[in-house]
Amino acid sequence: MYFAKKGKEEIVNIIEDTNVYACESDTCNGWMREEFSTPDLSCPICGSDMKAEVRGLPKIKVD
Ligand SMILES: [Zn+2]
Repeated sequence: MYFAKKGKEEIVNIIEDTNVYACESDTCNGWMREEFSTPDLSCPICGSDMKAEVRGLPKIKVD
């Protein structure tokens, strides 16, 4: 059963450990969440290879 949202959007402010891929270049801050990654992953900014790591990121609320 679905209930209509209340008038005010709830701001989710939870930090959780998140698997991400980070650019291997020291001069580039490119990264993306693992869930948005693709099999032939390369940095969207500079095109370098990316490596998996874990970062604390705000939780994405998925309804
Ligand atoms: Zn990069």
